[in-house]
Amino acid sequence: MSRSPYRLCIDPGHGGKDPGAVNKELNILEKKINLAVGLLMRGYAFTGDYLFDTYMTRHKDEFISLRDRCGKAWSWKAHAFLSIHTNARPMRGRAGVEIETYHYPGSKKGEQFAGIVQESLLSDVGKIFSVIDRGVKPGKYYVLKHTKMPAVLVELGFLSDNEEALFLSAVANQEVMAKSLCEAAETFLEGGGHEWTVGEKLP
Ligand SMILES: [Zn+2]
Repeated sequence: MSRSPYRLCIDPGHGGKDPGAVNKELNILEKKINLAVGLLMRGYAFTGDYLFDTYMTRHKDEFISLRDRCGKAWSWKAHAFLSIHTNARPMRGRAGVEIETYHYPGSKKGEQFAGIVQESLLSDVGKIFSVIDRGVKPGKYYVLKHTKMPAVLVELGFLSDNEEALFLSAVANQEVMAKSLCEAAETFLEGGGHEWTVGEKLP
């Protein structure tokens, strides 16, 4: 029986028939990176001295609808929700890992959580690679809108840039990102972030 008082819902974006962003040249798929980082987080939370238990919307390469992801977070009564993604774009970017974190517009707790996540990643990833701060932003993503608990969606970098894609797919780097996200969740939950805000109903 766990003594952790809080529950963190980890949501590795995409999966199954939905690969998310794809780097065709290097054959790197977003869904795989999201899941790898999520599973590493779960491992750290299980073995480490964290105040939270983790619940994952998917543990393997399978398709889960956005509605079901939110439904799971609700049924687990998660105190916080973290959706993990990586990005793509048609143009090449600058040299470095470009990190950004979203919260639902107007969600104070979400914004607070997003700020902690962004700061943690910039600091930890910045120790091993050059990072570019794309900031904390409001975003009307489904999983941010339809979760009652404070929720954030993090974009760990751009798969469309080969240098970033290689960085994001290396296990040693995924470990750094996963640990950094665990620390961020811990800081947020410990600081009272677990109190539910007035959220949106499931459709
Ligand atoms: Zn994505």
